[in-house]
Amino acid sequence: MKYTVDESGFYGNFGGAYIPEMLYPNVEELRLNYLAITEQKSFKEEFQHLLKEFVGRPTPLYFAQRLSERYQALVYLKREDLCHTGAHKINNTIGQILLAKALGKSKIIAETGAGQHGVATATVCALMGMDCTVYMGKLDMERQKPNVERMRILGARVVPATSGNQILKDATNEAMRHWINNPTDTHYIIGSVVGPHPYPDMVARFQSVISQEIKTQLIDQTGNPTPDYVVACVGGGSNAMGAFYHFLQDEHVQLIGVEAAGHGVDSGESAATTALGKPGILHGSKTLLMQTQDGQVIEPYSISAGLDYPGIGPIHAHLFETERASFINITDEEAMQAGIMLSRTEGIIPAIETAHAIAALDKLQFDKDDVVVLNLSGRGDKDLETYIRWGKY
Ligand SMILES: *Cc1c(COP(=O)(O)O)cnc(C)c1O
Repeated sequence: MKYTVDESGFYGNFGGAYIPEMLYPNVEELRLNYLAITEQKSFKEEFQHLLKEFVGRPTPLYFAQRLSERYQALVYLKREDLCHTGAHKINNTIGQILLAKALGKSKIIAETGAGQHGVATATVCALMGMDCTVYMGKLDMERQKPNVERMRILGARVVPATSGNQILKDATNEAMRHWINNPTDTHYIIGSVVGPHPYPDMVARFQSVISQEIKTQLIDQTGNPTPDYVVACVGGGSNAMGAFYHFLQDEHVQLIGVEAAGHGVDSGESAATTALGKPGILHGSKTLLMQTQDGQVIEPYSISAGLDYPGIGPIHAHLFETERASFINITDEEAMQAGIMLSRTEGIIPAIETAHAIAALDKLQFDKDDVVVLNLSGRGDKDLETYIRWGKY
């Protein structure tokens, strides 16, 4: 079975590029050039250099002694929380801004919900001296003030999306409109393994540095490059794809994606796409998404802003359909408790997205010598207010 993208941009039944005709030239320019550019020696060298010196890679693969005792398995934490800006998202924005430069672009646009991708984009634009415009729902701007100010400090223009419910999908629409009107000098940085082909494949390749490092680090620490489990949370699915990528063909490695169940899968307030979703078109690709009988996208809910997405990347829809990966969902309450547990067991306060992956350890049955790699996608600093409001610690 092949899990990577095919010639026409599909992962099995999912993927493709369902875009308005007006966007076709932009996406086609990317599709025709992304592999040739990213496989050049000079591109790879600059990407590696920035990942090392600017982001701080390789991130440690940390053997978590006390967590291992708790779960009676050998638990390793891949410390993406130690990346510059506090999460894995920067791996992708560095890759895409280098690609934009190689394509001769001088301006960057992005859309953001919680603001994390906006901050990662504003960061690399400052690094490269590129003009940066980030679209954000007006309501989201009010909810995520610190990230709005971070972007502004970094020199980005944050533009409120005032249409619809004034949230992520409205910001996406405005970013698309901007790109249609500025096709020659502008690159659109998408923040997860979502969107029309080639974005999911491109983002997966940039994030695959995570599993590449895990392999090398496991050889050093255990003598064996492959773990028994890889566990990661899934919003759009980029940190999970980065952690899964180099293990996709090792069928004995169990890949576990963890989604947000919000108040519970049956509560009407969740983001558990694999449990509730049906095939449909979202953000330019065919994937699983939460929708009503007549195909209206259902507004997702999760306590964690980064998992609050009504779909998943098409590659995850394919991994789900082929059963190459298993998907678990975790409620707000379970995630918050797991966040406190990790803080007290290992001295690491995780992002609430990541806390969902940690909570999944409770749902899995391990043998004593199983090697479990958990992708610690981000740090909890940004979520302090949510921890405080939840209050049970
Ligand atoms: C954005 C974010 C996620 C979710 O995005 P993916 O594309 O699914 O990885 C997960 N964890 C953290 C810390 C994030 O910031």
